[in-house]
Amino acid sequence: MKNLYDVAVIGGGPCGLASVVEAKIAGIDKVLLLEKGTNHSQTIRTFYKDNKRVDKEYKGHDSNTRGAVKFETASKEDVLNYFDTLLDTNGIEAVFNMEVEKVTKEGEIFHIHTSKGEYHAKNVIIAIGRMGKPNKPLYEIPRSLNPVVNFNLDKCGSGEKILVVGGGNSAVEYALTLSRNNTVTLSYRRDKFSRLNDINLKDVKTAEKYGKIILRMSTDVESIENEEGKPLVHFKDGREFVYDRIIYAIGGTTPVEFLKGSRVEMGEKNIPLVDENCQTNIKGLYIGGDLATRSGASIVFALNHANTIISHINDTLPA
Ligand SMILES: Cc1cc2nc3c(=O)[nH]c(=O)nc-3n(C[C@H](O)[C@H](O)[C@H](O)COP(=O)(O)OP(=O)(O)OC[C@H]3O[C@@H](n4cnc5c(N)ncnc54)[C@H](O)[C@@H]3O)c2cc1C
Repeated sequence: MKNLYDVAVIGGGPCGLASVVEAKIAGIDKVLLLEKGTNHSQTIRTFYKDNKRVDKEYKGHDSNTRGAVKFETASKEDVLNYFDTLLDTNGIEAVFNMEVEKVTKEGEIFHIHTSKGEYHAKNVIIAIGRMGKPNKPLYEIPRSLNPVVNFNLDKCGSGEKILVVGGGNSAVEYALTLSRNNTVTLSYRRDKFSRLNDINLKDVKTAEKYGKIILRMSTDVESIENEEGKPLVHFKDGREFVYDRIIYAIGGTTPVEFLKGSRVEMGEKNIPLVDENCQTNIKGLYIGGDLATRSGASIVFALNHANTIISHINDTLPA
């Protein structure tokens, strides 16, 4: 086999990027990165607002990096520049616009299937995250409302009445950003925030105090209708409001079909089963970063998974 890689990494987010960098630094020769987007870090590019402060300590996960790739709190733009530099200085072979469909193993060799052909590797790391498919609510969203029902801030302008649904850091940060130029309501189904970092918690409370954000705690949306091109939102408490736009920030889902197609064993809630080295039930097939978790983790968590996986692969490759 002419082009047989020692390690192929699927997904160019923090876990995938750190994996290829750690592999190169460890002296592993043939390393490949496959990313479905036009560039690395699609989750950061798509879901983080411009100038977002990217926190090193996030959701209470370990904030100490263990491997060669370090990380400090910085702006979204600085983080992307840092990742650019990592890719460039380590001479990584990366293929963009390459969506992987599944991974199969024949003998000792993995076949990585894409619509454009196959790649082959001795070890594969799946680091495709959970934000390829953002979570959607269980109730139906009328298709006619698609332009004003969004999962990130790309289409937002100013002067709108916006409902943000969610209670995590992403939802709060979206609401705070939008509240500078819009009238924002944040709807969260619980009675208090439990997953926010200290800064977001303080900022959202201040924004509420000064009337910048309307907080609707313990509220759940029951259904949405199209009223003259705008979402009419029916809440479970019987109240209803018309908004110009709704933004959902309620996390992402496990790409189950990918994992099933690759014969990865999954546990409760379709979380892939991995051992302490992040190795799946298939020897040489690893899963790291958000995909290995139930509801996503953090950048440092993803970087540390990369370190764990590459250390394990390095130990198994012949010297
Ligand atoms: C709005 C928001 C704000 C956040 N803020 C912070 C923060 O401040 N600090 C922090 O530490 N964490 C933050 N996080 C969490 C952090 O972004 C994730 O934990 C981290 O990005 C996970 O990295 P990953 O490499 O596992 O996956 P991802 O970053 O999701 O990367 C996966 C990559 O795989 C690619 N991909 C997907 N499917 C395929 C396929 N089939 N073939 C090829 N490529 C594929 C994607 O395009 C993507 O580039 C935030 C998350 C969100 C959504």
